[in-house]
Amino acid sequence: MEVRKKIAILGGGVTGVVVAGELAKDNTLFDVTLIEKSSVLGGLHRNFKKDGLNYDIGAFVLPTSHSLFKTFPEVKKICLQIKNNMGSVTLNGNIDKYPCTISGYIRDNGISGFASACLNTILCKFQHRDRSTLPSFIKYYIGADIYEKSGLRGYIERLYGMKDEEVDIEFATKRLSEIQKAASIKAIATKALRGRRTALVEPPTLKEVVVRPSEGFQKIYKTVEKTLIAQGVNLSLNCEMKSVNRKGEGFEIKFAEGTKEYYDRVISTIPIEAISRLIDQPLQKQLEYKKLLSLFYRFSGELGYDSNILHNFTNKSPWKRITTFSKYYGTYEGDEYFVVEITLGDEDKIDIEQQKQEFERYVQNLGLFQGQLKFQGSLIIGNAYPVYRRNCLQGVVDTKQSLQKWGLELAGRQGEFDYISSYDAAANAISLANKIKADYCN
Ligand SMILES: Cc1cc2nc3c(=O)[nH]c(=O)nc-3n(C[C@H](O)[C@H](O)[C@H](O)COP(=O)(O)OP(=O)(O)OC[C@H]3O[C@@H](n4cnc5c(N)ncnc54)[C@H](O)[C@@H]3O)c2cc1C
Repeated sequence: MEVRKKIAILGGGVTGVVVAGELAKDNTLFDVTLIEKSSVLGGLHRNFKKDGLNYDIGAFVLPTSHSLFKTFPEVKKICLQIKNNMGSVTLNGNIDKYPCTISGYIRDNGISGFASACLNTILCKFQHRDRSTLPSFIKYYIGADIYEKSGLRGYIERLYGMKDEEVDIEFATKRLSEIQKAASIKAIATKALRGRRTALVEPPTLKEVVVRPSEGFQKIYKTVEKTLIAQGVNLSLNCEMKSVNRKGEGFEIKFAEGTKEYYDRVISTIPIEAISRLIDQPLQKQLEYKKLLSLFYRFSGELGYDSNILHNFTNKSPWKRITTFSKYYGTYEGDEYFVVEITLGDEDKIDIEQQKQEFERYVQNLGLFQGQLKFQGSLIIGNAYPVYRRNCLQGVVDTKQSLQKWGLELAGRQGEFDYISSYDAAANAISLANKIKADYCN
């Protein structure tokens, strides 16, 4: 009888659990171990809890076609179907649909401003035809005027935490395909004829979407945990690894409590620095991340917006998005509750009090919150956003290749150091599991 292959999956975020779940479906072929350093599964899918309320660290909206639900169909049933209602605060501080509509643009810039933006878009087809930097790529499609005056430039700089021309174009365009599809001259002209409520720059096409249940992400990941255990996965939570070494054709992992285990394959979804330390191949050059500061609030009073997720397209305040959970789960003791996301660089000294005061002053001036804001706490996530600076892509590719050459398989947002959504992370995880299965089935 064929010996079962021992597979170690490092990291129990969405990527790790999907790879584990897919391989465990073939448990006559694979003996799967999932190693997670924290006491719970889920990774970035985590909650801040206060007064019995669950806050996410940002906006997590999952299409019903998400691969997590393909691997764990029972999870979809416990999620909450929502209407994906996204808004934005325009450069002039008005509320618009996300990211920006023709009427919103006209309200901020006048009819003549809109007409000249259309002409400018035509001009930019010539001026920026090389599309060699991120700003020139976007200006080619939507024009310099719309890029600037819709607040998109400011938002992109806040999203990536750096000047737009510093962002690597190859990396950024992966996330900007909607602009390519929707913002041609022809598309804008057609929209102008269709009416003013039409989106000027198309939002991502998310129709059937869900959010986690009101009990928090742990309800999802406890369900996942049960399924994995039932499928025979060895689940090692609260598990600290000391080293990962090559041994024969496979690998030996040493654990903090002094035990060691042999595996045929190791799939790493943990940060590249962490796995490099474990295999004793320190990085030549540190990879760069942006931190995420999440501020959690309750609010009693009148909300000045009706969207679930409100994006900041102004250039006056550093917050990126507000996600209002009470829009999904209902108010609590009459209060709305929400999270504010603020991206911070590694170099930034984090003064939470100053960030909080700055946010409160700005949104109250805008009239977004007429009433009492009640600060509930904050959380900082270190490895929230991988950063790809211009001309640094090759260094990242080389680092990943050297780990792969050593024998590791890399997957996920941290493991691959890629700014991917959980949708893509989970889809890639299924492809990786299928590839591993194919290696033994043929
Ligand atoms: C604010 C925010 C909002 C987002 N919104 C969306 C959204 O709406 N839709 C969407 O599709 N995506 C969204 N994403 C992206 C999505 O959350 C990520 O792509 C996804 O969660 C990444 O999963 P992962 O398993 O690859 O990584 P992670 O979730 O980071 O998991 C890595 C795991 O490895 C563990 N680990 C680390 N070091 C070690 C070690 N030494 N040993 C063992 N384990 C270790 C960690 O504890 C963690 O559990 C959002 C991201 C953020 C930050």
